[in-house]
Amino acid sequence: MLEILPLPALKDNYIWLLKHSEREHVAIVDPSEAEPVFDYLNDNKLTPAAILITHHHWDHVGGIPALTECYTIPVITPALEEVQGSTRKAAENDSIDLQEIGCCLSVLDVPGHTAGAVAYYTDEFVFSGDTLFTAGCGRMFEGTAPQMHTSLSKFKALPDTTKIYCGHEYSESNLRFASTVEPDNTAVQTRQEQVSELRKQSRPTVPTTLALEKQTNPFLRCEEPSVIRAATEYKQAELNQPHQVFAALREWKDNF
Ligand SMILES: [Zn+2]
Repeated sequence: MLEILPLPALKDNYIWLLKHSEREHVAIVDPSEAEPVFDYLNDNKLTPAAILITHHHWDHVGGIPALTECYTIPVITPALEEVQGSTRKAAENDSIDLQEIGCCLSVLDVPGHTAGAVAYYTDEFVFSGDTLFTAGCGRMFEGTAPQMHTSLSKFKALPDTTKIYCGHEYSESNLRFASTVEPDNTAVQTRQEQVSELRKQSRPTVPTTLALEKQTNPFLRCEEPSVIRAATEYKQAELNQPHQVFAALREWKDNF
């Protein structure tokens, strides 16, 4: 069985460790810094098998130099991005066979937050980086709205039971926005209460499931009449395409 463990890092980042429950090897996803990883590996007598990077931002790659100085392991990075220390490029339709962990990951190209962002997934979970967040999505630093909308559609096509492991703890602020877009969405209200409880105890609100995201994440709901209505009102313009609804929501959230 596979386990996925969160290592909180920096202000609100998550480094994810992917582990087979009966083996000592782990894959490290988006090591923003090395210290929390070293500490956890030493405390639990674990050996890293690979580093997986979803995109080139410093708060996802910052730990690579120190980790690779200690361990000679593959560093898998997006094909279209420059990441120092990369030993293998990953792009859509690639398979990443992590033999030590007994897990084979597939790759999705999900540009929008950055130009070459990728996600790593199986039929049970996905590491979505800063593209799909819990109840939200990443800012478009290097992409366009149609691109980001298409990337989010790829997540939406995964099985509803897929667990989503994203790069930051943003649920509270994302749900505040979601409840502004859809004040009558009871699933959003329920989730806000659950998230608030977890955060009071400093517990992660990640992972989430795709099914819950489809009910509560406005950026995955660009075809819902209530979301279209709210986005149209914000933009004061007719929005005929889902990607236009998405663009209006993203602009709204950026100014929220
Ligand atoms: Zn980022």
